Amino acid sequence: MTDRNDEWFDRARSVIPGGVNSPVRAYGSVGGTPRFLASARGATVTDEAGRTYVDLVASWGPALLGHAHPEVVAAVQDAASRGLSFGAPTSAEVELADVIASRVSAGARHPVEKVRLVSTGTEATMTAIRLARGVTGRDLLVKFAGHYHGHSDGLLAAAGSGIATLALPGSAGVPAPIAAQTLVLPYNDLDAVREAFALHGDRIAAVIVEAAAANMGVVPPLPGYNAALADIAHAHGALFILDEVLTGFRVHPAGFWGLQQDAGEEYTPDLFTFGKVVGGGMPLAALGGRADVMDALAPAGPVYQAGTLSGNPLSVAAGLATLRGATPEVYARVDAAASAIADALSAALTAEGVVHAVPRAGSLFGVAFLPDAPRDYATALTQESWRYAPLFHAMLDAGVSLPPSVYEAWFLTAAHDDDAVGRVIEALPAAARAAASAVAP
Ligand code: PLP
Repeated sequence: MTDRNDEWFDRARSVIPGGVNSPVRAYGSVGGTPRFLASARGATVTDEAGRTYVDLVASWGPALLGHAHPEVVAAVQDAASRGLSFGAPTSAEVELADVIASRVSAGARHPVEKVRLVSTGTEATMTAIRLARGVTGRDLLVKFAGHYHGHSDGLLAAAGSGIATLALPGSAGVPAPIAAQTLVLPYNDLDAVREAFALHGDRIAAVIVEAAAANMGVVPPLPGYNAALADIAHAHGALFILDEVLTGFRVHPAGFWGLQQDAGEEYTPDLFTFGKVVGGGMPLAALGGRADVMDALAPAGPVYQAGTLSGNPLSVAAGLATLRGATPEVYARVDAAASAIADALSAALTAEGVVHAVPRAGSLFGVAFLPDAPRDYATALTQESWRYAPLFHAMLDAGVSLPPSVYEAWFLTAAHDDDAVGRVIEALPAAARAAASAVAP
């Protein structure tokens, strides 16, 4: 039976490559027709055929307060009434930089001293590595297999997210000399990092790591891992860049870094990158960190970065309203909803005898069809990933929208009240049965 989603997907494919503007949206690894969304409110999204789903995608993370939160929408409308884009400094962007800097704190430590606003997470990480290269005068970059930092040339090697979903080693179109500047190491393996620094220590500008990996499924760092990365980088005069685009302001008021500081794992990144929640659903991201490093950015310093829409007033308004609304109660609600669904997911799969793990990083979680939660990309790729498509479609049929790939995290919002959580939990047993009866390809 075709519906409005099929009609739109046909039309989309004739005018947009693959019918989508970002690859994972195409349902490539789960099959079927992507839902074309017409509106979203609170914990739900509504498609072009008029069907409403409880949403566990949350726009891939930004919608921490829930979709179309009235205060965020009002702030954007108010800003829009005063002009859509100025290409000039504004008071609101100063306020947002201050809010970001003051939130990322632990006791007396405030590692974000200065902030630059950009429009996407890709720009934030791309700028952070250019800055690290400019400040250190070195070229090489260390990243980890399965970690996704956006789609800039040097960061696509063995990246997670769509690269994992499409089972690609990287991307065509990245010149070999650029790819050769990135050393890709296995995650959660400190010996590999020590070895890379022993071989190339005086040429490495920076180590970049997802604060907790969440683009190859959820794969948290082992205890002490992030702190050890910072130590090793610093011992060799390299910078340590913590990518909190996905985790920042989502899992804790001060991001995954804040969660780790609360747990007693003390370390200080030189640079942080933020995105998603920081823009509250509008195009906005940021990098921030040590003042002496950040001041190397133009016009204060020699490292160039710019953007016509950087600090866009509507995006800044959405970011400010979202961060101001992200109270301790919001995090408590998101944590509770995540725990209830993660526990129910695991119980449903156990009841059907499906070998699985439900790895967690704060309120982020996902499913891995392996006996134990994977610690690295190579292991994550060995799972029975074909069990996910039937689970996904059983949930969709029951009115629950999950991320359309086993390698993506499930996102909750503060709008996931008992009713929304109950609807997800109710749908899980049939979805677990579908996963159990899936046949290997
Ligand atoms: N870094 C991480 C950890 C991400 O998860 C993402 C996107 O998912 C990015 C960077 C890139 O952000 P954007 O999609 O806004 O360019």
